[in-house]
Amino acid sequence: MAVDTAQVGNCDKAASRTDECGMFYARCSAALIGLALSTFVSSSALSAVAVSAPDAPITVFTAKKFVTMDPGWPEATAVAVQNGRILSVGRTMEDLAPWLDAAKKNGTSVTMDATFKDHVVVPGFVEGHGHPLIGAIALTRPCLSHFPQPNPYGADFPGVKDLEACGKAIAAYLAANPDNGKPVIFWGYDVAVMGQHLDAAWLDKVAGPRAVYVWDASEHFVYASTAAMKARGVTKAEASIPGVTFGRDGEPKGQFFGADAAAWVLAPALQAMLTPAEVPGIMKYLIDLGWKNGITTTSDMALGMIAGIEAESRLTKQFFNSPLAPLRCVSITAADVAEREKGVGDGAIALVRSLEAMSDDKVTFRGVKFFADDSFLSFGMQMTGPGYTDGRVGLWMTKPGDMMQRYEPWWKAGMQLHTHTNGNAGVKAVIDALASLQEIKPRFEHRFTIQHYGISTPEDAYRLARLGGFASVNPYYLYARGDINAPYIGTDRAETAARLRTLLDSGVKTALHTDTPVALPEPLEAMWIAVNRIGIESGKVLGAAERITPAEAMRMVTIDAAVTLGVEENVGSIRAGKYADFAVLDASPLEVDPMKIRDINVWGIVVGGVKHPASDIKPLAQPAPSKPVPSKTTLSVPKSSSPTSAVPASSRTTARADQTTTPKKSADPRALSFAARYGNMNALADIEAIRRHTDGCRLEFWRAISLEGLEITLEIQDELHRETP
Ligand SMILES: [Zn+2]
Repeated sequence: MAVDTAQVGNCDKAASRTDECGMFYARCSAALIGLALSTFVSSSALSAVAVSAPDAPITVFTAKKFVTMDPGWPEATAVAVQNGRILSVGRTMEDLAPWLDAAKKNGTSVTMDATFKDHVVVPGFVEGHGHPLIGAIALTRPCLSHFPQPNPYGADFPGVKDLEACGKAIAAYLAANPDNGKPVIFWGYDVAVMGQHLDAAWLDKVAGPRAVYVWDASEHFVYASTAAMKARGVTKAEASIPGVTFGRDGEPKGQFFGADAAAWVLAPALQAMLTPAEVPGIMKYLIDLGWKNGITTTSDMALGMIAGIEAESRLTKQFFNSPLAPLRCVSITAADVAEREKGVGDGAIALVRSLEAMSDDKVTFRGVKFFADDSFLSFGMQMTGPGYTDGRVGLWMTKPGDMMQRYEPWWKAGMQLHTHTNGNAGVKAVIDALASLQEIKPRFEHRFTIQHYGISTPEDAYRLARLGGFASVNPYYLYARGDINAPYIGTDRAETAARLRTLLDSGVKTALHTDTPVALPEPLEAMWIAVNRIGIESGKVLGAAERITPAEAMRMVTIDAAVTLGVEENVGSIRAGKYADFAVLDASPLEVDPMKIRDINVWGIVVGGVKHPASDIKPLAQPAPSKPVPSKTTLSVPKSSSPTSAVPASSRTTARADQTTTPKKSADPRALSFAARYGNMNALADIEAIRRHTDGCRLEFWRAISLEGLEITLEIQDELHRETP
């Protein structure tokens, strides 16, 4: 059965949008016309959609405890599952008797499964705001980050200690990976910690004649070796591109600062990387990280921003319905991409409606996303009353005066709207627009959701609640930035980023999210931040009055995240009728010492009643050469995975080989790469540097990384589909 193949219109002119992750996306690119994903979806792929059958076998999972997140039936020890959905939730086996007796009468088989007898089972975690493709690209390059990075396939990447270690890591990776004629892109260099920018002279010393790019942690800076510049054709003529630096001799230095220059120089290498052989592997890497951390439903909070809506919607359907992805996905279309492709109003709305009609058990398309003000991390966010201490102003991605007009057709059509906004001026402008929408057409169950909700006031929360809006909050704004934002926006506002207590007390339905790759997909850590509010740098409690309880935080990564995504009828709690999607933990986050929440071991997940232990997580193997390749197939997924031939993992593992363990400079020994990746503003204290960095946000990153001419044909062999009950 073919996926809907609604032809995507021409896009004459690309424009850009930035997400909080600091990356820049083409709204649409003519290149997308050249990107064709074949209609791979075979009949067996869609058989993943469970067919309800009253006599289908029943499995009864027993556990030390089920924490259901159903307030009226909060705990259980036995859960009956049929057709991938929960049949009944029993405090004891006796509660299941009505269903099991009926099964006995019907001759329906019942299997007991005590795998979780020593575990605490909670609803599968729901990622309220993620980016499966964008995150995958960033996190799967050979890594140079200073802070440790988790790895779904093995030990965490320990981080590189200093510049010398960074050079050794590059050299070791190159030694282990012979030159195949393609440039190597390293990712995660931390200019703040390493203390200096790189250049071609430095890279040539460690990389010799190899073509090497180093993509920094913020993704705004790229450094290139001489060989890489030669291959890219960098000449003196590139002086016209802002951000390309030149030496006294007039020759390019191998530095590409700002998204424009960075994107320009990196485009061909990234384009070459996004091949059919690579894309499933890198997406799997990210999905496996989520699996390892108990996520059963992820989300794509801006479908279409890299390759356009048609290509990305088909890729999403194919990928999440393949054996590569046990997780489900909720995809929210980037509104401006839909408008660019189909025209503002009816055309764009019809496109999103057609996507919604394509939803299946694994992928739900729902609603659209807008952008208000810019980035939290690089101070593109709009602050008011007062603004920034140094007088800077942020950036609008949609001006307050235009918001209402942008929303109006979608609002009137009854769609669910999400809006990215970070600063309190942005939050207020979005709430003002929501108030105007409610005046022209009052709606009740609209689920208008503010995404990120970085800096806000108590009055914002009050108004948002009265207008029926929701908030999906990134707690890493507090954890990773609460310590260092004070000089720019004041201590009070830095420490009250992510006002979770205020939101709850005001009655706003609130979710937590990680916005991967902004933070890593670790819901237990997001909970830990929300409950403890500890700063990554200082180790101090920040904004103590905004702390919430473990039970409240748990709602935000399960049922309430599902509500903000509009999928709470199917996921988010353990109750009869929902998918049997569980996260299986060694202990209950509601009972351990709150400081230990993020240390709870995750056994794995259950999706649609099928167990997926984390120990099963393996990288995608390269296509097996012995397998005949179907004529139109450019990717085949062999049944057996060979860790030694892993696509993304091997590169990371090898890069890791020669590195020493990093001494932890941060107060938090588990300090994530967050601050490193997205730029430590203390190191960019020079206001002009910050302004340049921020200005980069307006540039068109992903447009340059176009997929022009790239033909992606993704066919996964039929026999490889395993059926998901
Ligand atoms: Zn995002």
